[in-house]
Amino acid sequence: MSEHHGHHIGGAYVPARSPERIQVVNPATEEAFASIADGSASAVDDAVQVAAAAGADWAATPPAERAMVLRRLADVFEKRAEEVSALVTRQNGTPISVSRAMQQQVPLNYRYFASLADALVEEEPVAVSVGDAFVRREPVGVVGAITPWNGPQPLLAWKIGPALAAGCTAVVKPAPETTLDAFLFAEIASEAGVPAGVLNVVAGGRGTGAALVEHPLVRKIAFTGSTVAGRAIAESCGRNLKRVTLELGGKSAAILLEDVDLDAFKPFVATACSPNTGQVCRSLTRVLAPRARYDEVVDAVSSAMTDIPLGDPTDPANLFGPLVSARQRERVESYVELGRQEGAKVVVGGGRPASLPRGYYVEPTVFRDVTNDMRIAREEIFGPVVVVIPYADEAEAVAIANDSEYGLGGGVFSPDRSRATDLARRVATGTIGVNSASFPMEAPFGGVKNSGLGRELGPGALDPYLELKTIFRG
Ligand code: NAD
Repeated sequence: MSEHHGHHIGGAYVPARSPERIQVVNPATEEAFASIADGSASAVDDAVQVAAAAGADWAATPPAERAMVLRRLADVFEKRAEEVSALVTRQNGTPISVSRAMQQQVPLNYRYFASLADALVEEEPVAVSVGDAFVRREPVGVVGAITPWNGPQPLLAWKIGPALAAGCTAVVKPAPETTLDAFLFAEIASEAGVPAGVLNVVAGGRGTGAALVEHPLVRKIAFTGSTVAGRAIAESCGRNLKRVTLELGGKSAAILLEDVDLDAFKPFVATACSPNTGQVCRSLTRVLAPRARYDEVVDAVSSAMTDIPLGDPTDPANLFGPLVSARQRERVESYVELGRQEGAKVVVGGGRPASLPRGYYVEPTVFRDVTNDMRIAREEIFGPVVVVIPYADEAEAVAIANDSEYGLGGGVFSPDRSRATDLARRVATGTIGVNSASFPMEAPFGGVKNSGLGRELGPGALDPYLELKTIFRG
């Protein structure tokens, strides 16, 4: 093992005080190549104190200047995007082409948040019947940002961008699998002129995240991750009356209308149903097919899944790589076994690719004869596994789509755009595409039901990071 890492606090690396370590394993080779600190409650306190101390100056920096810092951050990130992409791939196995596409989004995100800082109205009058009054928008204070491993940099940008634009300072607790790119980001931020203490990164696992959530000086938590963790975080934030935004799991539906053009739909299997080896929260993992065309849809989805090039994530030709960890592979395999026991049939995949003996690979898998009450149709699998469910008519398609504890993504596919849009209106979800897999970052993103609370992105992205203060005068 080559690298040992501490934390990034106050604009500099600091060594870890606690002896506990977490191994960072390359999922394509199964080799540990670094370790990060764990058990870091004292580091959390150090980082939060530093972020709190940096708060007054950053809050007093005019929004237009904060916007300039964010634009420089975007520029430096762009310059170093290849380095970030390669490091993300090494840690979580994201195929390099996918990793590059993700990192390309990041500077666009920071520039978008810079434009929101430019547009921020810090004080504005409000019409009142007695005297006069105005409203101030003030940063909430120290933000705790907790991220998962599957899209670490964009998901961090969706938190750090609005936090810094609003004048907040932040402590980041990245997923243990993808902490090294968060350190690289902290370096990028320093190089771009983000003042010391405004952005801090503390390494560690769940306990470290929990310590950040509980810290009394942290005024808002922005979390992306599993529903189980989100619930625990919401409980703590409820107890402490702390603001919280939660972006959680999903089990979204792709509704194929009976006039769907399957040749036009097939590319969406890679980009919408199972992107990033199926490790994307808004994946459309339940494909709802009109009963009259069920076999045809199963064939189209199966051939599209097996056509996705799978292998070494450093090869730009591949779009599927290994899963992030041995544990994640076990989880996916246990769901495949469960699906078989529940009576669904594996059409393609279902095992490990024989040609890839090393690395946490699983075969892209499609299940048919699936009913919506099966656990493989209800629970988030987070791997390249798609289930195809038949429906009789539109009302049943909507009922099946909505019969879920989740509501994060969704899709409707049909050449009839306006009919598809009407159907999209009836699906209980936070975002839904019509013949599209590309979510626009200028629109709000988030979920309903167990998929989360609140929204990131969009014109209101700064609101969760701002307090309204009313000053009224006689
Ligand atoms: P996870 O919930 O296990 O971990 C996410 C982060 O939270 C990690 O940094 C982890 O260390 C930390 N954490 C875990 N338990 C915690 C606790 N009790 N208190 C504080 N911090 C805690 O999730 P994961 O396995 O890293 O990521 C996969 C999950 O993330 C999937 O469920 C996926 O759907 C979800 N996700 C959601 C979105 C979205 O925008 N809705 C995007 C990407 C991923």
